[in-house]
Amino acid sequence: MFEEMKENVLKQINDAQDIAQLERIRVNYLGKKGILTEQMRSIGKLPPEERPKVGQVLNELKQTIEQALEERKKVLEAREQEKSLQKLWIDVTLPGAIRKVGHPHPISKVLEEIETIFVSMGFKVVEGPEIEDSWHNFDALNTPEWHPARDMHDSFYLQDKLLRTHTSPVQIRTMLSEQPPIAIISPGRVYRRDYDATHLPMFTQVEGLYVDEHVSVAHLKYTLEIFAKRIFGPERKIRLRPSYFPFTEPSFEVDVSCGICGGKGCPSCKYTGWLEILGAGMVHPNVFRNVGYDPEKYTGFAFGMGVERIAMLKHGIKDIRDFVRNDERFLECF
Ligand SMILES: [Zn+2]
Repeated sequence: MFEEMKENVLKQINDAQDIAQLERIRVNYLGKKGILTEQMRSIGKLPPEERPKVGQVLNELKQTIEQALEERKKVLEAREQEKSLQKLWIDVTLPGAIRKVGHPHPISKVLEEIETIFVSMGFKVVEGPEIEDSWHNFDALNTPEWHPARDMHDSFYLQDKLLRTHTSPVQIRTMLSEQPPIAIISPGRVYRRDYDATHLPMFTQVEGLYVDEHVSVAHLKYTLEIFAKRIFGPERKIRLRPSYFPFTEPSFEVDVSCGICGGKGCPSCKYTGWLEILGAGMVHPNVFRNVGYDPEKYTGFAFGMGVERIAMLKHGIKDIRDFVRNDERFLECF
């Protein structure tokens, strides 16, 4: 009878798959109300001559079970430790989690390049408010209310103010607070009611202003030629074409020679050999009068360019709206 019990319990112990199961087997046989415990308790009911024999067998069985439990426990413990180590195991040869690192927007990059070029020539970078009053944005720049050029610039009005249509008001603010010689560039966002493949309602401008005694068109051309060669390449040339702006006289459109055909003419430059890059001119005497400078004593040149346009020419981009579409495939090219 005890042989059968012994076989049964040893089999259960060997089949146990975890420590908890093993503990249940121990309680079942050796606990206070365990099968073996009950058997040992009932020894007293046996005839006296049988008691020592049965007692010895049961004691041996108890020891056998305890030993088997202990051995199985060691096996299961080792197995569980191995499992938890496997969970912690790290394959150091696997590639790490790749996080994409951003970079400056192409407009920020080109703007920084433009700033670096002018700063190296002695220009100072000055910024101003994006919400302007119409005196700084128009009137002081020789563009009174009746002036047709104001329509071209018609912008976003905010009660008695407006979003600046160019960064020229920064020139006015600088001339009102400083005396010549002045050499500044003013970069920043400007706003106009335009939207198509070459115009955005918000774009980035860099304007330049140089005021001193005896400043001439020659200074203007030299400065812009240096700029064009540095930003587009040393083989590029510029030319000035007569134009009109209310705040400069004379005024020019400035072209750079086509980088694709070298000036011979191709589809990119519409077979002219030239690409328009910016507007410029000699500061109008009325602008000097508006800020309290003597136009008989001082002369100066000013220019303004769209950073998006420079970036489009530099990188061969056809649609200005790509700059604001936030398409990673486009942005990753820069
Ligand atoms: Zn060309």
